[in-house]
Amino acid sequence: MATKAFGINVSTSGDGDIIDLTPKVAESVGQSEIKNGMVLVFVPGATAAITSIEYEPGLLADLPEFFERILPSGKLYHHDRTWGDGNGYAHLRSALIGASFTCPLNSGKLVLGTWQQIVLLEFDNRPRQREIVVQIQGE
Ligand code: ZN
Repeated sequence: MATKAFGINVSTSGDGDIIDLTPKVAESVGQSEIKNGMVLVFVPGATAAITSIEYEPGLLADLPEFFERILPSGKLYHHDRTWGDGNGYAHLRSALIGASFTCPLNSGKLVLGTWQQIVLLEFDNRPRQREIVVQIQGE
């Protein structure tokens, strides 16, 4: 059993930015030389999330609209009183979706659906630099 970790640096433009990480994750998998196991994609930070979607223009508009409906950015949250940074909604969205995505690795390939991409969701109210961790475990 081997474990290898890689970093993916991403610049985001702030809330609503959705970035397809799949090509970079696949590149990390190739460099790891691990063929079978698990791939963990993780974002350190409490105002972003990792999930999977079909990366197409309709969903790239639907998803931010969905978050705006369930956790509106214009509302005052308790967190905003704690720090005054105005991103309470971003923390809640991040907690809802989660900071990681796990994907099986089979014969050197990520096991994903044809229309399934691994994405970073940025929720913070300002542009951010994110260093995504890709940890691959297997043999
Ligand atoms: Zn905050």
